This record gives sequence, C-alpha cells and structure tokens, in this order.
Amino acid sequence: MSHATPLHRRVPILAHLDLDAFFAAVEELENPELRDRPLVVGGDPHGRGVVSTANYAARKFGIHSAMSAAEALRRCPSAVFVRPRHALYRQYSRVVWDTVGEIVPRIERTGIDEGYLDLGTVAPDFTRARAVVSAIQTAVRATTSLTCSLGVGTSKVVCKIGSDRRKPGGVTVVPPGTEAAFLAPLAVRLLPGVGPRAEARLRTAGVETIGALAVLANTDLKAVLPGSIGTLLRDRARGIDPRDLELAGEPVSVSAEDTFAHDVSERALLHDEIRRLAQLVSERLQNSGLSGRTVTAKLRYGDFSIRTRSKTLAAAVDEADVIGAVACGLLDRGLRDRPGALRLVGVGVSSLSSYRQLTLEP
Ligand SMILES: [Mg+2]
Repeated sequence: MSHATPLHRRVPILAHLDLDAFFAAVEELENPELRDRPLVVGGDPHGRGVVSTANYAARKFGIHSAMSAAEALRRCPSAVFVRPRHALYRQYSRVVWDTVGEIVPRIERTGIDEGYLDLGTVAPDFTRARAVVSAIQTAVRATTSLTCSLGVGTSKVVCKIGSDRRKPGGVTVVPPGTEAAFLAPLAVRLLPGVGPRAEARLRTAGVETIGALAVLANTDLKAVLPGSIGTLLRDRARGIDPRDLELAGEPVSVSAEDTFAHDVSERALLHDEIRRLAQLVSERLQNSGLSGRTVTAKLRYGDFSIRTRSKTLAAAVDEADVIGAVACGLLDRGLRDRPGALRLVGVGVSSLSSYRQLTLEP
C-alpha cells in the first residue's frame, strides 16, 4: 500500500454561485413587460415594507436589498413594486440546482439563490474549472433563462467575494497563490463576517481595505477585534479559510465503468481495464475527500446479464492500486462463478467516509 495520507492533497478548487437579482429576474421572466423597467420585489412602499431584490435598472437609482421600500420609491418614483412570490422562486431554484447538480455533484446550497460547488470533483485544474463554470452558466440559462455569477478559488471566502465582482453573468477566477493580492484592495466590509459594527471599529483604526486587515499586527488586532473573531477575520483577509463544503448528503458510492467495443474474455485485458477504472475511481474519491471500505466489481456479460462482487475491507481506501487489486480479485471470483466474455466492467467504492471531518474547523 502506498503513500495515502490526506496531508498532501492538491489545493481545493471551489466556486460560489450566485443567481443575479434572483427574485427580480424571475418576475421579469414571468412578466416580460417588466424587463428594462426599474423593478423592486419587496414589501409595501407606502408602508413599512423592505426591498428584497431590485433589478439592475432599479439599482441604477441606488436601490438595493434591505433598503426600506418607501426609500426606494423616493429614489425612483417610476419603479414597479411587486410582492415576493416565494413558492414560484422555489420552483425556479429547484430547476437551477438540479441543473448545476448534473454538472457538479458536490454542492453546498447556502440559500435559495446561492451555494458553493466543489469543482475539484470534475476539474483537475483552474483552467478546466473555468470551462466547467461556463458550462454551468450556459446550462442554467438553457433550463431557466436565468443568469448567474461565479467566483472560483481555493477557499469559500475568496469564492464568495469573487462571485460578486462581475455581476451580472460574470466569472471571477482567483488562481492559487493570488488570493491575498485579489482581496487586498477591496473594501473591508466586503469580507464575509465583517458586519457594520466590525467595519466601524476597523475604520476607526484606519483599516479600510481587506489588505490593511491582513497586515494588522497582533496587538492592534486584539484592540480592534478582540477574541477569536479577530484572528479568524484576519486569516480570511489573507485568503486563509479551511472550511470545507457542508453537504446535505455525501454520495453513497463512487464508481466508473466502461463498455467494450466487443465482448472481451482475455483476462489480462480485463485486468488492465479494471485497473484503469480503479484509477478513475481513486481520483474522484481523492478529489472529493472521500475514501471507502467496500470495493465492488461489476461484470456485464454478452447477454447483458449483470453480476456484481463486493468485498468490505478493514479500513477505508482511496488508492488506485489497492482498489484495482481488490477489484481484479473480485472480477476473477465473478468469472469463476460464471465464466464468459464480458461486454462491460465496472469498479465502485462504497461505505464512504470523509477524511476532511478530521481537519480542525476554526
Ligand atoms: Mg443572488
């Protein structure tokens, strides 16, 4: 068994996806006459209502979320005000996330219109991650006509800030090693976790940018933001954010299979294919931070009948050579039980666990 500690994984490739002016965009789709007009989804502008979402035409008048609807009306008397239709937004949201989930399986939804994606499960590097992100935007537009913006980076904090940089319909990729430089010039209030109070304290201390927070000395930091929140925010200002995605449900298995152009009975060829599939499964496991105890080989014969053989190991594995060796043994066992030429072979790993649970959270 070779090298398999989780300590030297490649850097995470994460993304934050945010739908653009979601509620307003849905209302525009449902009622195209509203398009290009200042539109405010929210409460009663003649009462105590609050703006949920303003479309981009309304934002030109300085209208934004959480502003009072009365103030929005003052800023733009010609704006159209509509009440939110949450059931409708949930329907759109479901289609969006189903669409995204078909491209990237590992998703943490953090709201009806936003969430984090683990692009490392589908893209080996940041160049390919950019292509995946374009594919997501295209697919979301195709299924819902909605646009979204994404930030791609090595950590949640960088992705979250990145997705907001080029709205609407924008993509911001922050390659590994450039996190601190990307964050440095931005206003400190843009850092998630810096609320109005922290912002005011930082401003009083002369800290206006994320970069200024990043270089704040320990004693100054303790005076401005006492306790663990100070060091947490300064770490984030430096682009240091070890939070993993929090998943509703991890996949129950990771598998790969391949159909031959013609039925194969030569054992060496079958073993070669099993080892190649084990390599794919291993990469997917490692990219997802998963390992599993049960290895399965799948055999499909020329008559399309399917047999599977499984073995549960004492410890969880994610290494290609181990998975391959076990799966080759299982293939041999399957062929001993029922000899014949195979049309397809597959390798799977289940009984998964996430080694990332072992990493310390801040
Ligand atoms: Mg949004």
